[in-house]
Order: sequence, then structure tokens, then C-alpha cells
Amino acid sequence: MRRYFVGGNWKCNNTIAQTQSLINTVINKLVFDANKVEVAVAPIFLHVPWVQANIQKNVQVAVQNSSLTKMGAYTGEISVEHVKDLGIPWVILGHSERRQYYGESNEIVGKKTRLALDHQLSVMACVGEKLAERESGNTTQVIQAQLEAIKKELTTEQWSKVVVAYEPVWAIGTGKTASPEQAQDVHAFIRGWLRSQLGTQVEQATRIIYGGSVTEKNAADLIKQQDLDGFLVGGAALKPGFADIVAAANKAQ
Ligand code: PEP
Repeated sequence: MRRYFVGGNWKCNNTIAQTQSLINTVINKLVFDANKVEVAVAPIFLHVPWVQANIQKNVQVAVQNSSLTKMGAYTGEISVEHVKDLGIPWVILGHSERRQYYGESNEIVGKKTRLALDHQLSVMACVGEKLAERESGNTTQVIQAQLEAIKKELTTEQWSKVVVAYEPVWAIGTGKTASPEQAQDVHAFIRGWLRSQLGTQVEQATRIIYGGSVTEKNAADLIKQQDLDGFLVGGAALKPGFADIVAAANKAQ
């Protein structure tokens, strides 16, 4: 049985006061069975030390990116060594906003994923199609290419520290959630790909989570889908409704 996984991606939001308030009023009040659900939240880098020092023990801390390069003369970057040094267990890689605004290709995402895993971090690896790609019937080809670029870099064993986040780009921050059936179709495709490319053990162990306008209103229906193991939540992760999303995973069968 896979543990459900709920990630909160706070993106480039929140002053320190807002982050403190979110931790104190929402995150530290979350009640869930940690044997059943794993929860991680990703503040901006600058807020990480405060969050680490003040967050409840059942909620893990993630970062939203890490550098393609290691520690060294790379002005402005934060390397996987720095992330590890701070004791942060998770990194989100391949988010569509990184792909869209910062030119991260499939190849870059694959290499970043490898670097993070080589430094014992766990990775939420994001994949997902744009609206035009879905409308032209290319959803699975796009996702397959994104997954193949990651697979090219990893050993089979390294997949044990990867959570695949299916995040259709047209659903992120738009209020247009994929229907449970649309999400399930793609999750089933990803699970089939994991089985055919990496074997039954990886397929059965790997969490595939959904992201794209998840809210407290749609989480309970989405989580009923057979191949959906949780969520990556953006906008709603900044609000009290995040507690209901975690509760939906905690209640799921
Ligand atoms: C995200 O940023 O990963 C995301 C899914 O955002 P939202 O929930 O706001 O669509």
C-alpha cells in the first residue's frame, strides 16, 4: 500500500509574517495519520530556516528548485549540497513555471533530478501537457518524453525517492481542474509507463500525485481515483482549505 502524499507549493508568495501565520494557523494545526499520509510544504528559500525551526514534526519541508550545477562559482544559485546541508528532504523539480519562465528543458529536469537524488534528496518530479498539446491529442507523447528524460539519468533504485506529479499546465493556477476521469487516464498511463520501463516493483511503489487547481471542494473526488496517490497544491496551499485537502487524503480508502 502506497502512502498518500500531499505537497504544498507556496511558489514565490508570502512575506515572512504571512509564512509565520500560515505555519501557526494552518500547517501546525494539521491532524493526519503520518503512516497513511506524507505532507511536505515548500516555502521560498529564504523562509526555509524559520519554517524548519517552527513546523510540526509530521510535516516535512521542501524547496521549489535546486541548481543544475554543484557548489561553486555560480552566482545566484542554490545547489543540492546546500539543500542537503540544511537537512531539507524534498525538492520540487520540473515545475511547469520553471519550464515556461526559466527555460528548463526535459534534459535539464532529468539532470537536476539525477543531481538531487545523487545527494540523497527526494524529488517531486513534475510532468504535464499544455492545453494545445492536449487538444492536438499529444498528451501522452509529451508526458512520455518528460519521463524518458528523467529515466535516462536515473538508476532503477533511485526511483524509490521520486514522486511523480502530474500537473496539466492548463490546470495550474487557472481554476480549471482536470476531471477525476481525465486525471485518472493520465495517471494510469504513467503507471503503465513505469511498469513497462522500470518493472512492477517501481510501478507499485511510486506515488503519482495530481496538481492543478486542487481545492478542498474537488480533492475528495479526485483522491478516489485508483492511480491517484495525492496532490501537489499551489494556490490552495496558502489557505486554510489546505487542511481539508490533507483530510481528504487522510480519509481516502
Ligand atoms: C502548482 O503550483 O503546482 C499548482 C498545482 O498550482 P495550483 O494548485 O494553484 O493550480
